[in-house]
Amino acid sequence: MDRAGGLRTAHPLRHRAHADRRAARRPACAGHRVTAVVSRIRDRLAPAPEDVGPATRRAREAQPAWAARPVRQRAAIALRFHDLLLENEDEILDLLQWEVGKARIHALQEVAAVAGVARHYGRRAAHYLRDRRRRGAVPLLTHVTEVRHPKGVVGIVGPWNYPLFLSIGDALPALLAGNAVVIKADEKTPLSVLWAAELLARAGLPPGLLHVVTGDGPVVGAALIDQVDYVCFTGSTRTGRVVGKQAAGRLIGCSLELGGKNPMIVRADADLDRAVEGAVQACFSNGGQLCLSVERIYVHERIAEEFTRRFADRAARMRLGAHYDYTDDMGPLVSQRHLRTVEEHVEDARRKGATVRAGGRARPDISPLCYEPTVLTGVTAEMTVHAEETFGPVVSVYPVSSDEQAVALANSGSYGLSASVWTKDTERGRALARRIIAGAVNVNDGFGAAIGSVDALMGGMRESGVGRRHGAEGMLKYTEAQTIAVQRLVPMPPQPGVGLARNATLINASLAMMRRLRLR
Ligand code: NAD
Repeated sequence: MDRAGGLRTAHPLRHRAHADRRAARRPACAGHRVTAVVSRIRDRLAPAPEDVGPATRRAREAQPAWAARPVRQRAAIALRFHDLLLENEDEILDLLQWEVGKARIHALQEVAAVAGVARHYGRRAAHYLRDRRRRGAVPLLTHVTEVRHPKGVVGIVGPWNYPLFLSIGDALPALLAGNAVVIKADEKTPLSVLWAAELLARAGLPPGLLHVVTGDGPVVGAALIDQVDYVCFTGSTRTGRVVGKQAAGRLIGCSLELGGKNPMIVRADADLDRAVEGAVQACFSNGGQLCLSVERIYVHERIAEEFTRRFADRAARMRLGAHYDYTDDMGPLVSQRHLRTVEEHVEDARRKGATVRAGGRARPDISPLCYEPTVLTGVTAEMTVHAEETFGPVVSVYPVSSDEQAVALANSGSYGLSASVWTKDTERGRALARRIIAGAVNVNDGFGAAIGSVDALMGGMRESGVGRRHGAEGMLKYTEAQTIAVQRLVPMPPQPGVGLARNATLINASLAMMRRLRLR
């Protein structure tokens, strides 16, 4: 297996420089353990004669033999990977914290999510991929089977915020479906992906099937999309449009998992303790750098003030830090540039009249990239935070007078990724959920209930994406469906040796009969 590639124009040493900068701003107490794993994996980023071309060529060579293996053999590798992942958990937790900055508990949630995907597809791949009998055109005489073939080489382009889940988590169903995979890791977080690729090799994945290339998106990502048979992209809506156009130009399929501005609705009958705690998790997990993060909360006016007071108080008490253990509730942000964006969003809101109920400032005294969990009220449409994705620990709370108003506001804007509804009346919650334009709606949970249910589809409506991950579709999108129809005994009409007029009578009679027999 190749551990690192990258176009020469996107020199891997630049990413090594990013890694060195990150090392510099980590607290000294980070310790030996982290340094050891980082240097071991980082050495893979030394200049390599690789580029996207050789990686996809080798993937193409290795893929047919892999596809010829029984599905159960391929699936067993995912289950072994699952076990190895848990056995080596501390190492990848260190690496995820080091690369992304996330608190350890959020790194663990990411690892758990990948384990869930490995277990699900390890157990369900054979079921999803099996041949299916379909109804034939002529009952009893037309025997139809739908068969699934792998696409060939799948390209995965992922972001930095969940580098393991949004690369290996999508690669697993592609591999188990019989494809080879080339991952373009985000330039800020290639080490976690390289680590996982190595672990998959240890789990028994044959050489040549999984490649990781690193480098700048518009160069390496674009080169990859030019050479693969399907692309699974996760990232911003802006880049998603570019990727979608490129895939369309080549007439290859793609799934696009994009941005969001996810709403939460808190009904007057909600359990306030649970709703406040749920909002903390929904807004500040991974410092809000999560596509499913809640960034706007619509609370019934009867409880709005109490909810906001308790929520702001809870946010203000969160423990910030950059420790490689479970002492912190929230870690630093990923980069200086991202920190600046978060600061700009809050400053813009403050300048235009919003009230900062909690947080609202960077905390370089704790760690260079720390920003406080921030709760805003009085946000208006002129402010950037109103409709634009911040992708940081910033949330706006708005009072509403009815379910109708809450749903209308939740559905405003151009995104449709995820939503959350809090109520003691779960039937009412379900009914509201159906009216919200979002690929996933959680009732009495922020986002984890839906994303953790790997049997169910995840993805975005409107500008939040095209296609889905997880469930059957999360695997079948990496396949081509083929219909094999065998006609027996009597040929399809027109029947030879019978006049065309007589054939027409027979066709009409059989159509009427099939309708009467209620055949589908
Ligand atoms: P981004 O779009 O800037 O980058 C994502 C990936 O695309 C990176 O690997 C990047 O190098 C690559 N890339 C950039 N330009 C490219 C091009 N022209 N061709 C091919 N690849 C290219 O996204 P980001 O800012 O790093 O990530 C944050 C965004 O991702 C947020 O908007 C967030 O909501 C979204 N996101 C969505 C999901 C989801 O499942 N819907 C999950 C995580 C993040």
